[in-house]
Amino acid sequence: MTDKTVVGRFAPSPTGRMHAGNIFATLMSWLVVKSQGGRIVLRIEDLDIERSKSEYTVQLMRDLEHLDLTWDDGPYFQQGRDEAYEAAFRNLEDKGLVYPCFCSRADLHASSAPHRGEKLVYAGTCRNLTAGQIAKRSRERRASWRVRVPDSVYSLDDAVQGHYEQLLSRDCGDFVIRRSDGLFAYQLASVVDDAAQGVNCIVRGMDLLVSTPQQMFLQDMLDYERCSYVHVPLLVSQLDRRLSKRDRDASLEELENTYKTAAGVIGHIAFVTGLIDVDEPVTPDELLSAFDYEQIEQLYVNKIQIVWNP
Ligand code: GLU
Repeated sequence: MTDKTVVGRFAPSPTGRMHAGNIFATLMSWLVVKSQGGRIVLRIEDLDIERSKSEYTVQLMRDLEHLDLTWDDGPYFQQGRDEAYEAAFRNLEDKGLVYPCFCSRADLHASSAPHRGEKLVYAGTCRNLTAGQIAKRSRERRASWRVRVPDSVYSLDDAVQGHYEQLLSRDCGDFVIRRSDGLFAYQLASVVDDAAQGVNCIVRGMDLLVSTPQQMFLQDMLDYERCSYVHVPLLVSQLDRRLSKRDRDASLEELENTYKTAAGVIGHIAFVTGLIDVDEPVTPDELLSAFDYEQIEQLYVNKIQIVWNP
């Protein structure tokens, strides 16, 4: 494949316990990376200080270990990394790409990954404010900071979803990289961290495909290397409704009650997602020995959702 070591990552947000959907994406990351002899970084995405809880971090790590979803590096955290995010922010600013935005909904969801896949395309209201207007508005409210996107197409060849592209000016729009409360946004932090941690293979849920072109744009602007991408289908409770903490039957707690052992839980998830044909206990290591990357591409190609079946 490549002559470079493949480095993947688990990037959970410590805002609750894992459910079948998170476990599936994590398992896929592990299989894709390990089948190429690669290494896994564990990064706890605790950028959102209000929703992130250290109890959840402890629980996450315990659950990953118990499920035998091992990592080689980390855990790294996002809290405490402001200096690195600040440096990237300054770099973009020096390139004339950053401007203050005084629009009131600017901060919405900026610190978390836009999981439902919906994208608000910013109309560009604050794009061309004069210095005088900026000074005046700054006295009224604190600005958030947006990066100016070009009229360019960013495209990728996703290992599962195939070709995907966005015309950034039309499909993405200038996006927030720092919120008005000073917190850096998910889009910036995850790109900076992936580069700092040497990540070059990103395997995650399909809902984040929509964020990938803008992340690639940031990588280019910051002179980072590009990554390869594998966006795996989302587990949904019914069509178009992604699993959430409300779906009790997909919670790890329920799965443990029903399937008893870690291998039982992994086996059931592997069965529902078509990795194995029989619903029986299996470990990630056992799945790995039968795992064929080429086959996975065929198994999931253009598949966006898999309905969860407890
Ligand atoms: N922290 C995000 C999550 O928990 C993942 C972001 C990513 O994979 O880029 O869903």
